[in-house]
Amino acid sequence: MKYSITIGWLYPELMSTYGDRGNILVLQKRCEWRGITCTIVPIDFQSKEEDIAKMDMIFGGGAQDRQQGILIDDLRKRKGPVLKKLLERNIPGLFVCGSPQLLGSFYMTGDGKKLEGLGLFDMESRHFGNGKPRCIGNMLIRIPNTFEIPGLRFLDTVVGFENHGGRTYLGTGLTPFGTVLVGNGNNGEDTTEGARYKNWIATYSHGPLLAKNPHIADWLISKTLEVKYKKKIKLQELDDVLMWQAHDAMLKKLYVTKE
Ligand code: GLN
Repeated sequence: MKYSITIGWLYPELMSTYGDRGNILVLQKRCEWRGITCTIVPIDFQSKEEDIAKMDMIFGGGAQDRQQGILIDDLRKRKGPVLKKLLERNIPGLFVCGSPQLLGSFYMTGDGKKLEGLGLFDMESRHFGNGKPRCIGNMLIRIPNTFEIPGLRFLDTVVGFENHGGRTYLGTGLTPFGTVLVGNGNNGEDTTEGARYKNWIATYSHGPLLAKNPHIADWLISKTLEVKYKKKIKLQELDDVLMWQAHDAMLKKLYVTKE
């Protein structure tokens, strides 16, 4: 059977400041190598709700405060309701830095503007301006085994790169994506990194994230196929030597090498 997935990409011209479009390339390639058709659909100001409702996965990249301010009203008022429906239908999503900040209750920008969020994640984000230094640098986090796919290589680590002024504080009911081993993560205080709710992952990890973390890319693809076709679909193992070498090189650089 020929499988296909369609990925909705939030505001690609405004939310890819930190190279997060690389995640789209990784997802596309890992589908193509497996004979899975992967179609990318930009979600922009003129996108219609009924078209967004057909997406099988949603992706959002990072952005500076200015771009977040430009798009927040359209995102909240015209995309919020359909994104909520997709979330509740367990459609998977990956949101990096500037986009998940807008999925919480609010994001306070560096110049004190309070951007009302979509309220889909029980969290809030504040940029303390010059009050706190930007969180910039390599990041290493520990993730739970829930992301493991039987038959595919798995490591309980994710390596990435953070570059954010905003700090995110999770509500009591929200699970972090992982625990910070090296770097700041959500706020540099409580060792949480990102958030996980249903099949949505929020993270501060640029890099792009998926280029050195094939296990997360495959988890997203596997989940997307499972939800769309209502059955678990075995993913063919790929030759990920280079990706895992890049992952392991960062582990060595930042932490203890995995056996
Ligand atoms: N503008 C936000 C901040 O500074 C998000 C930055 C990003 O997406 N890397 O925290």
